[in-house]
Formats: sequence, structure tokens, C-alpha cells
Amino acid sequence: MGRAFVYVILGGGVAAGYAAHEFVKRGVSHGELCIISEEPVAPYERPALSKGYLLPEDPARLPAFHCCVGTNEERLTPKWYKEHGIELVLGTRVKSADVRRKTLLTATGETITYKILIVATGARALKLEEFGVSGSDADGVCYLRDLADANRLVNVMQSSSGGNAVVIGGGYIGMECAASLVINNINVTMVFPEAHCMARLFTPKIASYYEEFYKSKGVQFVKGTVLTSFDFDSDQKVTAVNLRDGTKLPADMVIVGIGIRPNTSLFEGQLTLEKGGIKVNGRMQSSNNSVYAVGDVATFPVKIFSETRRLEHVDFARKAARHAVAAIMEPEKTTEFDYLPFFYSRVFTLSWQFYGDNTGDVVHFGDFSGNRFGAYWVNKGQVVGSFLEGGTKEEYEAIAKITRLKPAIEDLVDLEKQGLGFALTLSRIPEPSEEAVVVSSGSASTLVVEKPLYAWHATAGVILAASIAAFAYWYGRRRRRW
Ligand SMILES: Cc1cc2nc3c(=O)[nH]c(=O)nc-3n(C[C@H](O)[C@H](O)[C@H](O)COP(=O)(O)OP(=O)(O)OC[C@H]3O[C@@H](n4cnc5c(N)ncnc54)[C@H](O)[C@@H]3O)c2cc1C
Repeated sequence: MGRAFVYVILGGGVAAGYAAHEFVKRGVSHGELCIISEEPVAPYERPALSKGYLLPEDPARLPAFHCCVGTNEERLTPKWYKEHGIELVLGTRVKSADVRRKTLLTATGETITYKILIVATGARALKLEEFGVSGSDADGVCYLRDLADANRLVNVMQSSSGGNAVVIGGGYIGMECAASLVINNINVTMVFPEAHCMARLFTPKIASYYEEFYKSKGVQFVKGTVLTSFDFDSDQKVTAVNLRDGTKLPADMVIVGIGIRPNTSLFEGQLTLEKGGIKVNGRMQSSNNSVYAVGDVATFPVKIFSETRRLEHVDFARKAARHAVAAIMEPEKTTEFDYLPFFYSRVFTLSWQFYGDNTGDVVHFGDFSGNRFGAYWVNKGQVVGSFLEGGTKEEYEAIAKITRLKPAIEDLVDLEKQGLGFALTLSRIPEPSEEAVVVSSGSASTLVVEKPLYAWHATAGVILAASIAAFAYWYGRRRRRW
């Protein structure tokens, strides 16, 4: 038994949904495209599972958050796939792949053949057993990766109202779940081995703001230690967690958010893997010309930082998926993927965005006693990363834009003084027109860019130079006025 398609997307998550949308925009014909997913539902916006899905009142439920509502585009319901002649093979796990023969074998015994394959298998949650602790399947112990996990979590949460929860892990899953538990009237203790929450991204100062905010909502933190075992009642329901430092925490429920592992196993030994993911080029194409990889499973060249990375963020999954489809459908018109890493989270009334890289010196700015503050990361004299809590749309766009520009910074103290104003001012410098651009940098040399050499973004180096010179000019005048 078998079917053949021109294009097959393996995996039915965020990247699959955005890839399907792009295929349709670029004129895929009926019957050419198939999506195979282990999940029983059409692709949806996974971040909703730790946010709107867990709300006690008016929670988000499908079909409300099918892709591509996350970017305010049309909602791709099962009817949409049908209308566009896209085959959705749901509730079906692919158990082996043969990239030489271009075939996938499903757990139901069907062989599906492709000409082009997009691997969008995402990642799975790391289990406690991988760290030598048993009990993941016990009653009251929850993970959160897919809709089935979310449904289980909602049931456990509802039966634990007024009780105690322990959240294992201080990353974004732990932080978002802890906030949702509090909103559901559950007492929360967070446990993680690091010195502060969101240790991979937050500075101690930023983390301290969020931890204090969480404490004001009743959340307790136990840091610098890990879970070693659970206590259960006679029904094998969790009653407590035991920590390495000897603490015992009573628990009606436990949420485990200790990281993920990309789903690459089908392709091990067949495609080149790097940094835990399937290595792709700037067209999202793997070491086999007929196989593309996108989303959490892909290790791709981050042009702006001249290195390869694997990102576990939704914005990347969406954009990489669209880029892969563009490269497949219109190869001659598609340039190399040029992506600025971006990550966001929303908890309680708080909301932050981060762009770029968190390496080098950190310059904090803003009001850490209020609700709008941020940080720049300056590496080798250039801004490489920006973080902002409580920004407006314009402010987030500004930090994104200047992070991409990587402006040179000579004086960190000045940067701190200017704070968000630095990004806002630099981002407002008009994009170069097609006419000659003449920028004076005061006593320094005059920069003339002749027309019309480039499009915005296409020759970032020239634009960067012009922007920096213009900023230097503005800044010089501003300083003089002060
Ligand atoms: C609860 C939660 C909250 C999140 N919140 C945020 C956030 O606030 N901000 C942010 O930037 N990112 C967030 N993320 C991360 C973001 O959702 C992921 O980066 C994104 O979903 C990756 O998309 P993907 O398509 O690569 O993988 P996924 O969306 O995980 O989809 C993978 C799909 O492949 C299927 N699959 C895997 N193996 C097989 C197989 N062998 N056969 C068939 N099907 C298979 C899976 O069942 C799944 O449907 C969150 C993630 C989770 C879990």
C-alpha cells in the first residue's frame, strides 16, 4: 500500500502550517502536497498551549489557534487544507525514512513517496528518566509539548485547585506554566539548579525582576538544587517531591520543563547532523538535495553572526518554513536565509522580546522598579542583542532594527544613559533613498553613498556605515546641546 506526492511535509506543527500556507501562496497544485503528523489535529500555534490554553476562564481551544493566526494571517482549518487539495495524514507516526529511495514508512504500514521532503518534526520534551529519576508517567506529573499534554495538564490543574504544585525547571515552559498555575489558584514552588530563572537568556538583574514579580504573586523559588525522587500514595499519585538538598515539597501536581531534544532520529546516518539538529544551508536544504529541514529540528547558518545554530523558537519555525518553500518553488528568486534570532514570552501582565545574541557586555536600561526596562548586549564593540520588557510595537521594532544593524558602541556608560532612546533614535533614521545619500559626521569625514547602488537590507554594510555616521552626527549635536 502506498501513495506518492511531489511534496511531503513530515511533522504537523508550526513549521508545517506555515509551509503549507506558503505552498498555496506560491501556487501548489491540488494533490501535490501531503502533511504527515503524529498529532490528531491540523497544525496549530504551539505557544498557545502554555498561555491561553491554560486560562481558567475562556481558554483558547482549537480551532481558534490553528496556524497562521500567530502572525494575524488566515486560519488554516482542516477545511482549508481540503479546499486547497492538501492531504492531511493525521494521527500517523512515520517510523522510518529512506532518503535514497525517497520513501517514508508510517506506523500503519503505508509507504509514502516524495520528490521533495520537508522535515518539520520539531522536538520532544526531555524526560526525568534521562536524568536518572523515575516517575514521569505517575498520576499528577505533567509535561507540556503537545495538545495531548496540554489536555492532561488542564485536567490535573482543575483537580488540584487550591493545592500545591511544584514546577521543575526555570526556563520559559516552567515560567509560563507557573504563571498559569497561579492564575488557576494553585500554590507554586519552582525548583531549578541554576542561580536564577531563564538562566540561558536573562542576566541576574533581569531575572531578579521577574522572580520578585512572581514572589509578589505567591510563587516560591528553590534554586541550586534538583529533583531526586517523588513520593506517591497507594494509587501511585504524586504527593511530594524530594530534592537533592534534602528538602521535601508537598505536591498535588508537578510540571516538568527541563528542556527538549530535536526529533532527528529518523535521519541519523542519512543526513548530516550538527549541534543536535539536521544541518541545512541558507535555503534550508540538508546534505541531501531532496530533503529540507525547518523549525526546531534544523541547524542553519545565522548569517548575521557567521555561525550555525539551532533555535527552538516559533518565529524561526514560521520564517524558515516559508523560506524553504520559496527556495523549493522559486529557487532562482530566493536568496540565502538571513534571520535575526527572536524570542518572546508573556507571563501574567508582563511581556518581553529578545533579539540577536546575549554575548559580551550587558548594558541595562530603563526602570527596573516599574514595568519598562531592557538590556543591550555589546560584543567586540557592537550591539549584538537587545531585550525589552513592556515595550510598544514601535519600541520592539526599534530594538529589532538596531540589533540587525549592529551599531558600533564606544562608550557603554553613554549607551546606558540613552537606554531605549538609543534604539528609537537610530531606528528612526530614514532608510536610504535611491538618491545620493550625504551624511556628515561632524568633524569626521563625510560619507557619500552614490545612487542607486542597493536596496535596503541588501547591502547591510553600506547602510550600517551610513546609519552609524548619521547617528554619530546626531549624537554629536545632541551632546553639544547638552
Ligand atoms: C508549550 C510551548 C510554548 C511555547 N511558547 C513559545 C513562545 O512563547 N515563544 C517562542 O518563540 N517559542 C515558543 N515555543 C516554541 C515553539 O512552539 C517551537 O519552536 C515551534 O513549535 C517549533 O515548530 P516545529 O514545526 O519545528 O515543531 P513542532 O511545532 O513541535 O511540530 C513538530 C510536529 O512533528 C510531529 N512529528 C514528530 N515526529 C514525527 C514522526 N516521526 N511522524 C509524524 N509526525 C511527527 C509532531 O507530532 C508535531 O506535530 C513554545 C513551545 C511549547 C511546547
